[in-house]
Amino acid sequence: MSARSRPVRDIVIVGGGSAGWMAAAALARALSGQPRRITLVESEAIGTVGVGEATVPPIHEFNAYLRIDPADFLRATNGTVKLGIRFEGWGGDGHGYFHPFGYFGVEMAGIHFHHYWLRHLEAGGDPDWEAYCLESMAARAQRFAPATAYGPVHHAVHFDAAAYARFLRDYAERMGVVRIEGRVAEVRLDTEDGFIEVLALDDGRTIAGDLFVDCSGFRGLLIEGALGTGYEEWSHWLPCDSAVAMPTTREGDPAPFTRSTVRDAGWQWHIPLQHRDGNGYVYSSAHQDHDEAEDLLRSHLDGTPLSDANRLRFMAGHRKRIWNRNCVAIGLAGGFLEPLESTSIHLVQTTIIRLLSMLPRDSIDPHVVARFNRDALREYAAIRDFVIAHYALAGREDTPFWRDVAAAGIPDSLAERIEAFRATGNILFEAGDLFGPTNWYAVLTGQGIRPRSWHPVADSLPAAEMAARFATLRGRTAEQLAQMPRYADFLRGLSV
Ligand code: FAD
Repeated sequence: MSARSRPVRDIVIVGGGSAGWMAAAALARALSGQPRRITLVESEAIGTVGVGEATVPPIHEFNAYLRIDPADFLRATNGTVKLGIRFEGWGGDGHGYFHPFGYFGVEMAGIHFHHYWLRHLEAGGDPDWEAYCLESMAARAQRFAPATAYGPVHHAVHFDAAAYARFLRDYAERMGVVRIEGRVAEVRLDTEDGFIEVLALDDGRTIAGDLFVDCSGFRGLLIEGALGTGYEEWSHWLPCDSAVAMPTTREGDPAPFTRSTVRDAGWQWHIPLQHRDGNGYVYSSAHQDHDEAEDLLRSHLDGTPLSDANRLRFMAGHRKRIWNRNCVAIGLAGGFLEPLESTSIHLVQTTIIRLLSMLPRDSIDPHVVARFNRDALREYAAIRDFVIAHYALAGREDTPFWRDVAAAGIPDSLAERIEAFRATGNILFEAGDLFGPTNWYAVLTGQGIRPRSWHPVADSLPAAEMAARFATLRGRTAEQLAQMPRYADFLRGLSV
């Protein structure tokens, strides 16, 4: 890619879904007081994808960067607390497990707690590992507080993504972002370097810019439509390519977790918000037709439907470059991984933060762009492996879909992780990975792997000392749990 030496003054964002408004808000915050212009163009006629309700804990860091008060945020978005995900049927019928946010025990002598735990199991100890994870116990007991005397209670949120986008739109407009309503009909490129020069709207208006942020959704209007960046497709590992979503009435108190339940050709999500439940079925259209999929979802709803079904199509993967020339693709325009671990909004936020950290001032430098792309694609691949692990270890062969999944194979990087864990108990991960040891431990063991060994340092602790430490940790978890109010009371307190 050629370098471009030209000051970056005008930043133009295309798309006003949650990605567009997250980008606008963060750029406006970062550049406040500067003589730069941030413009966002969106088309109400085209609309947004209209789903995306579950998140992961770092959303709080993004909101903190914007200086948004956590309680205001929950109130504005009808938000609820998510302590993790309850997986049902992953690993066989009647089999379930909880993937919590937060930590399992504490590190001892520099190694993760689960190594001591594996030694404890081998000695015939009580197998209830959740007694050492506050977030798992709180989910079980339906209790919640943002923090205890010992520190934060790790949680994410469920929310109304459209309300979040509206909230951020207000925020961004107050910070000076200019919104233009209109449909981009043409993207004009510089004939010399192929960089984007101008967007032409269908009513004849034009918008010039130095840096363009493509948040136009799956169509990738700029990154693909204009720049032909190409797409790295992962559907051979992740064959689900469709979803049907349908909100329902809320029945009873909400649970503080997402539910993911295995179905014939994919899985169903259940996300309890304050005022309604989000539901959806992610499936493979090669294995089930769309009407059948909708019928299946309708037959597994707890409440009464509040709207027609929203049918969506997608393809697992990402653009070959997330930053190409003077265009950065964020959100669905950049790539997509099915919402099994609720990671899309997180990828939007990390891409924005990465862009902020490498934001060009006087020139767009190819080395910076190359580094940005390397980091962004590595992040996608790490999350992809975590998502595929659920399928690879599901151990189901009861429908054509699940038989095809079992035969699909897995990336080498995931095979290494699984085999290393199986043989040694070690969890291979990189600094900065979203999913760390507790996440991997929960999913790998939840889906049936029992490592054959553990770290040798875990053998150094005398048995009596280990039992005493385990008792202390269990007691501390129980003590913190007892301090927490009922989750339903916490939610009621928000509306005061
Ligand atoms: P969109 O919402 O599609 O917005 C695109 C914007 O571009 C719109 O404003 C549109 O008007 C504008 N636009 C397009 N073309 C033009 C044009 N020519 N001119 C002007 N404007 C234009 N994420 C999670 O984190 N958790 C979840 O639980 C989750 N669940 C999901 C379930 C499904 C089935 C799907 C498909 C996605 C899910 N996601 C989830 C992802 C999440 O919905 C998206 O990451 C998020 O909403 C961001 O979408 P977006 O803003 O990139 O795109």
